[in-house]
Amino acid sequence: MEWFFAPWTLMAYMSGAFDTTGWQGIERNWYEPPVHAERWLIEIVYETVAAETRCTRCGAPLDHPRIRADAWPVRVAARCRGTARHRHRADVSRTPDGLRIDPLIRA
Ligand SMILES: [Zn+2]
Repeated sequence: MEWFFAPWTLMAYMSGAFDTTGWQGIERNWYEPPVHAERWLIEIVYETVAAETRCTRCGAPLDHPRIRADAWPVRVAARCRGTARHRHRADVSRTPDGLRIDPLIRA
């Protein structure tokens, strides 16, 4: 099933010239925290990614991700549903071209 690759296809698309949140052309400083639209987009992406990702250590599905979006880079963490509750994490950074969304990898 190709769903596994769908989030990464979205990632590649978002890292290109596609303006996902409309900040291009608007004077914003890099230290400004993510706006609501950015937080919403990151939540949607990682809810989808976590639902389609299995733990690389034990193969268990991942729980809902927790997102800390009070500053850049945005930190994402999710634990697997296995007995060991392996931790997976990812960062999201703002780049001149859009958002750079990393894959959820085991921490
Ligand atoms: Zn695990």
